[in-house]
Order: sequence, then C-alpha cells, then structure tokens
Amino acid sequence: MLNDPKGGSFRFDAGAVCLDFAHTGGEGRHAVFETLHEPADLGEWLAQPPLAAVMTVPVTARELTVAKTLRQAIWDAAHAQAARRPLPAGAVATLNRAAAAAPLIPELVADGTTVGWAPPVRVTQALSTLAREMIELLSGPFAGRIRECASDNCPLVFVDTSRPGARRWCAMERCGNRHKLRALRARQATDP
Ligand SMILES: [Zn+2]
Repeated sequence: MLNDPKGGSFRFDAGAVCLDFAHTGGEGRHAVFETLHEPADLGEWLAQPPLAAVMTVPVTARELTVAKTLRQAIWDAAHAQAARRPLPAGAVATLNRAAAAAPLIPELVADGTTVGWAPPVRVTQALSTLAREMIELLSGPFAGRIRECASDNCPLVFVDTSRPGARRWCAMERCGNRHKLRALRARQATDP
C-alpha cells in the first residue's frame, strides 16, 4: 500500500521487490512520501512479504542511510531505463557496491514446503538481494518492460511482467480510473 500525502492510500504492485523498495520514500520533492524514518522502519519493511526477511541483527542508523542511497539508485536507474536513457554512473556504482556483499541465504525447512533465511539475517544481505534483483531486471528480458506510469505527473515506475505486457498505469484504482473518467468527460463534452 502506498499513501498519498494529499490523503488516501492505494494498492501498488511495482512488479519486483526492488522496485517496491524504491517507492518507500525519496529525496527532495519526494521526501513527503518517506516511510522509512527510523532504522526500525526499514527492519519492518524488510520483514514484510514477499521478502519476509526478519532481521536477527537490529538495523543501525548508518545502515538506513546506506539503504536510502541504494533506494535512490534503484529509482534513478529505473527511470533512466524507462526513458531509454543511459543509466546514471552513480546509480550503477551504488547497485554494484550493494550487490557485492553476500545476499540473503535461503534455508529450506525440514518439511520441504517453506523456505526461510538462514541466520544471522543482516541489512547488508537484504540490500544485496535487492540490488542483485535490480541488476537482473536491468540486464534481463524484462528490461524493456520497465515503465513509468502513463499518467502525467505520476512518477511511479513498475515492471510489467504480465503476458500481454500492456500495463500502463501504476494502479487502475488511481491513475487508470482518473484517465477513464477524463476520457469519458471529454467524450460527453464533444457529444451533441
Ligand atoms: Zn500513476
């Protein structure tokens, strides 16, 4: 769920965990969207599915800063890719630096049906996992499906992994419906 500072919230699925992470807040004019105020906020976000990485070592203030730098790099790289611009060198360096750390290590549970993360579970591992996912996304078959919402003034980015690949909106209930309503009004205005 994303919150609109002007009120309300809506369900947004960015199509990849790393892109979901990119929408947890931002810098500058996007700072009003910030949800990661304290180190514990980051721990809580990582513990949510689908990552479900419950930290066994508490998040530090320094790690929160590192996480926000990675978040900005994912955001910048996604927008560059969506606009078919070269990726910013700083974003690439940040992604590579985060990915160089050991990622989360999957651990099979004896019943064979559930998978957890092998302890200790640290933030640097979670960030490495997110960075690696983003690198795979940018270099994989869905790179061309990274898009910005088709609505004017909506900077949300997502990867369209649907079979038809026709997704245009961040969320139908938000920009999709607004667009439909505008189109309907325009049609009514021109109809005799
Ligand atoms: Zn939108």
